[in-house]
Amino acid sequence: MSIQAGVINLLQDVRDKLGLALIFVAHDLAVVRQIADEVAVMYLGRIVEYGPIASVFDRPKHPYTQALMSAAPIPDPEIERNRERVLLDGDLPSPAERIDGCRFRTRCPLYRILGPEQRARCDADDPQLVTHGDEQVACHHVERNTLIVG
Ligand code: SF4
Repeated sequence: MSIQAGVINLLQDVRDKLGLALIFVAHDLAVVRQIADEVAVMYLGRIVEYGPIASVFDRPKHPYTQALMSAAPIPDPEIERNRERVLLDGDLPSPAERIDGCRFRTRCPLYRILGPEQRARCDADDPQLVTHGDEQVACHHVERNTLIVG
């Protein structure tokens, strides 16, 4: 942990002193939140949500980002015990497999609660990044997303 903190501090110093833009690839959400100004969330090699760190972390719009954020530990045991989570079923498909429509469809908790018409769009059309507020999100049904993140 101390080596990790040292590396992060060094990267922040280098970035600030030299005015560099850094691309930092990580699975540790706490590190990402600490070091980044903007974040791109990827699923199966595609960006599914991109935007300012506070917006993506505090108000995620894509169901995959919502599941990631709801799985991140919170250092308050009371909140951690009682919060609702967005859960994913199934395994990650093979990146080599051909998937029509949305690549997240087989595990998407929002897809499961959509009606047949909305699902048909997920089945047929591969969603591209579309601007929603100050973020870009690759989901056809952002406005129907009532999944709770907490
Ligand atoms: S497009 Fe459909 S399957 Fe893909 S993330 Fe959105 S709701 Fe889920």
